[in-house]
Amino acid sequence: MENYSWVVDPLSAQASLEKAQKLVKRANKKGLNGGYSVELIKKVNPENEAVYYEIAVTGTPYEIGGWTFVGVIEWVPETELFITKSSPNYEGAEIDRSLVKQNACDHCGTNRKRNYQVVVENAEGERKVVGSTCTKDFLGWAFSPSFIDSEKDLEESFRGYSSGGESPKTSVYILETALVVINEIVGGYVKSGNTGSTKDAVIDYDFQVKEESDSRYYGPKPFTAGLASLESGKYTAQAEALIVEGRKFVADKSGGYYDNLKVALESEFAFPSLIGLLVSIIPVLKKVELEAIKAKAEAEKRLEIEGEVTIQTQFAETGTKLVLNQAKVVGIHGFNGAYGWVQIFTFIAEGARFKWFSTGGFDAEIGSTVNLKGTVKGFDTYKDANSTLLTRCSEVKPKLTKAEKEALKEVEWAF
Ligand SMILES: [Zn+2]
Repeated sequence: MENYSWVVDPLSAQASLEKAQKLVKRANKKGLNGGYSVELIKKVNPENEAVYYEIAVTGTPYEIGGWTFVGVIEWVPETELFITKSSPNYEGAEIDRSLVKQNACDHCGTNRKRNYQVVVENAEGERKVVGSTCTKDFLGWAFSPSFIDSEKDLEESFRGYSSGGESPKTSVYILETALVVINEIVGGYVKSGNTGSTKDAVIDYDFQVKEESDSRYYGPKPFTAGLASLESGKYTAQAEALIVEGRKFVADKSGGYYDNLKVALESEFAFPSLIGLLVSIIPVLKKVELEAIKAKAEAEKRLEIEGEVTIQTQFAETGTKLVLNQAKVVGIHGFNGAYGWVQIFTFIAEGARFKWFSTGGFDAEIGSTVNLKGTVKGFDTYKDANSTLLTRCSEVKPKLTKAEKEALKEVEWAF
């Protein structure tokens, strides 16, 4: 027997189950045969390991005195409109709308205003439509529409989605939509605030796409932005990667937001309560990426500087003339001083850090090495870095051997 089931929001799956169990328990009255139980079923999409939860109603429609409850005809007040609702797991034919008669009752035969009619069927397949107030007379059981929760009632109770109705969008699809909105519509991620949020923009966009695909819409379609990208699957791989990377990111994290984010990233479907969480993975991962780049650059810089500095005191007495061979240029910064533009060169040589405040300039680049001569001027500590200060620095040109001088001359002649 096919059990009636519908997908539920994973954030409230347990609460939905308890609510459904309560409804079913209320309906399972004494004197009625049949009845239902509900359970929560976890399902896993084998392709991407996304999970979703269904509430499944097992059991059979109620039956009393040989009459089975097929369903309910519910009239919209003051109109000739009605909807039909089937009992969960009823396997016979649907209620034939063409046979429905407003105000009629097959039990008492009187016509009067009725909000509900109950459809019952016996073992021979004979059906009767009984006014809700006559059910006690007819069946010996006082029917109240709230006692029997039809498939629709159960479904609507949870604002869920039935397998037969409109399915919620998959999480991958919602992230694809978010990427279209961010890259092609809004031009960036929008933090939630007075001017809306990316989540709102995604929901609006999805709604417009739905309108657009409505077959009742005729004429030229005014809304086309980003649709080609969405339909061609331009962002599918990126959306899937966001889920994979996102799951890795939250794996070792806990706390309100992260716990909810885990659920959103694991969920096959993006329920309304999950859309905002799901979309937030985009800036979260972007921030992680930027921080990793920054941390790497800082670590490299630290390694380059700290790795070679072992002397944290002034390298030599003030006034000492030094020649520093193979001094590594690790920093070049400039500022506008009282006497014009000043450049601060930072060097590392012989296990110490040196700084030179230069007004004349010096042709060097970070990472290069120079042979330098200069005079010790003092010592300073800036942002935990200890440096011996130099003044009157200049580059020491390497002394050439006789052979090198000859070779150089030849090269010069050649030009
Ligand atoms: Zn009646």
